[in-house]
Amino acid sequence: MPFYRPNIPTRVPWWLVAVLAGGLEVAAILPFWGAEDAFPGLPVALSVLIAVVAGLAGGPFAGLAAAGVGWILFFGFLADADVRALPALVPWALAAGLAGLVADRWRGAQDERTLLAGRLGAVTSASGDALVTVSPDGMIQGWNEAAEALYGRRADTVLGEPASSLAVERREGDLAALLERAAEDGSAASESVHRREDGAELTVSTSARAVRDDRGDVVEIALAIADIGERVEADERLRESETRRRALVERLPLVTYSHPPGDRGSLRPGPQIEELLGYSPAEWAAEPGLFERLLHPDDRERVLGELTAAADSAEPFRSEYRLVTRAGDVVWLRDEAAPVRDASGTIAYVQGYLLDVSERRRTRDEHERLLALARAAQADAAHRQRNLDFLAEASGLLGSSLDYETTLARTAELIVRDLADWCLVDVREEDGSLRRLTVAHAEPLGTGSDGGRPDGRPEPEIEDVVRRGRARLVAPDNGAGAPPLGELEAESWICVPLLSRGRTLGAVTLVSAGSGRVYGSDELALTQDLAQRAALAVDNARLYREVEERADAARVLTYVGDGVFLLDRAGVVRLWNPAAESITGLTASAVVGHPVAEAIPGWQAVADRVPIASSREPGRPDTVPVETGKGERWISISGVEFFGGTVYAFRDVTEERRLDELKAEFVATASHELRTPLAAVYGAAQTLRRHDFVLDEAGRDRFLSLIVDESERLGRIVSEILLANQLDADRLDVSREPFDPADLVERVVDSVRTHTPPGVTVEIVAPPSVPLVGADRDRARQVLVNLLENAIKYSPDGGRIEVRLDAGHGVVAFSVSDEGLGIPSDHHERIFEKFYRLDPDMTRGVGGTGLGLYICSELVSRMGGTIWVESVEGKGSSFTFELPTAEPELAPAGGPAADESAESPGIA
Ligand code: ADP
Repeated sequence: MPFYRPNIPTRVPWWLVAVLAGGLEVAAILPFWGAEDAFPGLPVALSVLIAVVAGLAGGPFAGLAAAGVGWILFFGFLADADVRALPALVPWALAAGLAGLVADRWRGAQDERTLLAGRLGAVTSASGDALVTVSPDGMIQGWNEAAEALYGRRADTVLGEPASSLAVERREGDLAALLERAAEDGSAASESVHRREDGAELTVSTSARAVRDDRGDVVEIALAIADIGERVEADERLRESETRRRALVERLPLVTYSHPPGDRGSLRPGPQIEELLGYSPAEWAAEPGLFERLLHPDDRERVLGELTAAADSAEPFRSEYRLVTRAGDVVWLRDEAAPVRDASGTIAYVQGYLLDVSERRRTRDEHERLLALARAAQADAAHRQRNLDFLAEASGLLGSSLDYETTLARTAELIVRDLADWCLVDVREEDGSLRRLTVAHAEPLGTGSDGGRPDGRPEPEIEDVVRRGRARLVAPDNGAGAPPLGELEAESWICVPLLSRGRTLGAVTLVSAGSGRVYGSDELALTQDLAQRAALAVDNARLYREVEERADAARVLTYVGDGVFLLDRAGVVRLWNPAAESITGLTASAVVGHPVAEAIPGWQAVADRVPIASSREPGRPDTVPVETGKGERWISISGVEFFGGTVYAFRDVTEERRLDELKAEFVATASHELRTPLAAVYGAAQTLRRHDFVLDEAGRDRFLSLIVDESERLGRIVSEILLANQLDADRLDVSREPFDPADLVERVVDSVRTHTPPGVTVEIVAPPSVPLVGADRDRARQVLVNLLENAIKYSPDGGRIEVRLDAGHGVVAFSVSDEGLGIPSDHHERIFEKFYRLDPDMTRGVGGTGLGLYICSELVSRMGGTIWVESVEGKGSSFTFELPTAEPELAPAGGPAADESAESPGIA
């Protein structure tokens, strides 16, 4: 709804009014034409009235026109052109013209009012502010669109309502007061809180102006209402930000300053400078050189240069530097300044500020320091990793083999690859001397000049390190002076002893000569680590070698046939080998760890006789008897003394000794056996040669047959000795041919019977058929003859001698039994030994060489047979030997008997 409804009267054109009025004039005048008796006043009055109305309606022109027409009609028709009627025109025209003028004035005023109202309406509806008019008694009269928008209420719901309804309840008084003040003073303004239709509160500013009529009475009060909520909020925010800004500025370590162009000396800083640097602005003013004086020496030159450059180029200056405060602290500042020019463009002064950036610098420095630390740690880690890799590689190398000389040489090559120009490794020999084991050089050795190549003896410096067992690091700058090392022109060197289990095994030396490398504690530590591993490797290898040698020695001692035992210096048995056990019958557990005097019975008695050599050359062993579990044994023993005690080696020579004894007996017996027939032959021959008496024929024959018999006997003895020799030397061949054992027995017995002594009978007992024997017939005959001769010989009191033949399983057994002296059972085996005789002293008067049974047993075994004796002392003896039959294949084919008889016939 529009605020005002303007009442604009429609204007009728004046000429139309004039024409209408003219017509009305005619109508009013003409009826009175001719009526002379009628009073002329009525038409005149009508005519004037019409002219006035025309003036009112159409303005002065229309009025004058109507008056003119009316007067002319009056003058022409009614007054008959009487000159007296002429003056009537003046009042006529006056009335109509005045009426026209008044009407025009009124209409002009009316138009103006309408225009004003229109303008007001336009302004009010276009206004952004809410415009409300209120009657003097406080009722709302007008309500524009902005008010509708502000309050959310339409005009028709508001008009006629009390204005106080716009305010919130608690602020209703504000509006009443405002209206009152406006009514009194003409205008007033206030801020208050109103309510929107939707209940929201509005912070508004209200301006009130009273509208008065001509009499000065208030007819209404216009209110202009604006929402200032946003502005209030903005004000609030502004205040806050201002507070913040101030707090910030106050807290900022910022100092503004100014100085004349190019004249830093006349620096005029703000008051905060005192807090920042400890010098008040007054002091700055008093001391022109203060700035330069406070500049940190490290920054001074740079900053002054930068300032000069900035002044010269008239460019803004920007830098960071340090100033020293009065307290002596260092403050990092950021300085930014720019020249300020006056209107003419010349530089009036320089303005700038100083900002304390110490914290940031400190943070940055700290950051850089941490970065540097991190980088250093990284580099350190990489370095350590390299060292670890190196050590791992070297350890792998050192542990790869027990040949420590080769591994040390390869380790030296590894060292010159990574750490040195030369690497020398020296090892200590068993005799304590130092030997150069290896020399490695970073460049290949050999061709060209290996000047100063340290191949010879270890240098005195290295010997010194080995002697002291302490590492040595020589570098030009650690006060050790010039570092010579033998012929090598060393720039720096490290020598580390190889230590293991408290012993120095040698030394590793790293030499820098030519590469400019200077060793430090790092390399020393690395080399020591490496040396420790190398020493361990050398020690292990040596220990392993020792253990191996000992194990070999122990193995040898286990299998050697000689008894070996070791007495320590205290005379306690430390070692007793299996051969010693078997020779003596004393077990190692019973002997080892015990004093020898207790462990070996009778040791005391023989100890002095045992030759002890002090060198490794064994002395000539002596043969001594010892009492053992197996009876008395003879041992050949000798000893060697060494630093840990004495080692004895001994052999059981009981058998050899017995053989020697037997040989000695044999010589005696054989001499006797030979001398007897020789003496007989010699005697008989002498007798036959004598001429002093003549022998008869019979006598001659007797002597001659004596010579023949004794010669035969001599020959037998000699051939026995020869045969025994042949058997010993294994130079006797035996043939194998089938023969008839019964035939052999018969022939032998026949030939023996020819010279059996009286009282002795020889008989044969044989089954009707005996298989052929496969053997050497002559050797079998020899055995049989030997046994028969023995039977006769050892039956001095005569008796029956029986020769038996028995066919066994694949064998034929020959037995010769007598009723003679017999043999004690403990001699049954030994009589088959060479030279063994039961009665070496021939107390029974029976002689012999002790070779017969030995030859028998050897021949029988060579023919694949066996021989044994059964005898009871004083009752007689029975010697049996078995020989294989000639045709073992006659036995069941493939049967075990066949195999056995083929391989070792007769053993069954
Ligand atoms: P010898 O030449 O002494 O007879 P042998 O080797 O033939 O040598 O005999 C060894 C020993 O065996 C003889 O010294 C003897 O004591 C004993 N001996 C051998 N044959 C008989 C026997 N038939 N009766 C008793 N003793 C015998």
